[in-house]
Amino acid sequence: MKPSQPIMPRFCLGLFFWAAIWAPTLEAVTTISAGHADIFEVEYLTTDEDTGQPLTTPVLHLGVHTDTNHYEPADVLLEVKETAFIPSTASFPSPITDLLGASAWILPADLEEAANLGVIEGGVAKAGFPNNNAVTFSLVGAGSDNPGNFVLFSAANSIRLAAIGGAVGSNASFSIVTGHIHYNWGFSAPGTYTFDLKASYTDADFGLLESATETYTFNVIPEPSSGALVLAGMAALGAVRRKGRWHAV
Ligand SMILES: [Zn+2]
Repeated sequence: MKPSQPIMPRFCLGLFFWAAIWAPTLEAVTTISAGHADIFEVEYLTTDEDTGQPLTTPVLHLGVHTDTNHYEPADVLLEVKETAFIPSTASFPSPITDLLGASAWILPADLEEAANLGVIEGGVAKAGFPNNNAVTFSLVGAGSDNPGNFVLFSAANSIRLAAIGGAVGSNASFSIVTGHIHYNWGFSAPGTYTFDLKASYTDADFGLLESATETYTFNVIPEPSSGALVLAGMAALGAVRRKGRWHAV
């Protein structure tokens, strides 16, 4: 008998137990890559989300809100598709191009433009608040492994938030007073970014309310390289040729 024979069943058994122990604790991560999503949505809650009981002090809750679902930020991967890539940022003013570089990936504030590209239509929203007093969103951290810079800016090119690599930039917070607004979400390089965000609001009855700090994860997909485009072109050409040959036969 070969000495290695008993190893395989034992290994499989080990895997089985590992899966049995860990599977119930694994969180399902939902990838959002298209459609309307209020990425930074803060809710003003007066009842406990789990029990439905009234809260003695209202709670601010940060989430990701789509037209069909509401997610905890930690359970969502926000994908910035390659169609968000723009080869030139020259149409933006210098503070923005300084952060993004000559080319960038941008989820457009313009809903129609975003829909045409098939990318996330990304907004910022407040829900359930008793009035139009300002809610402030603060960028409290950026991942040390972030592959590039991030800038959140308005349709009129006003910067709301900025991060330079793993450092929060000089634009670290912004406020909204109305319920809902859409912004441009710009990234200077492909790869995975994380950002820690917090919301705060001064309540007439309860004073300063702050949400928990939540981590948001974005995955920016590289644009097709020129080499890949050439290969794709050659493959398409080959398909046409083959098709032609079949017709000829
Ligand atoms: Zn929206």
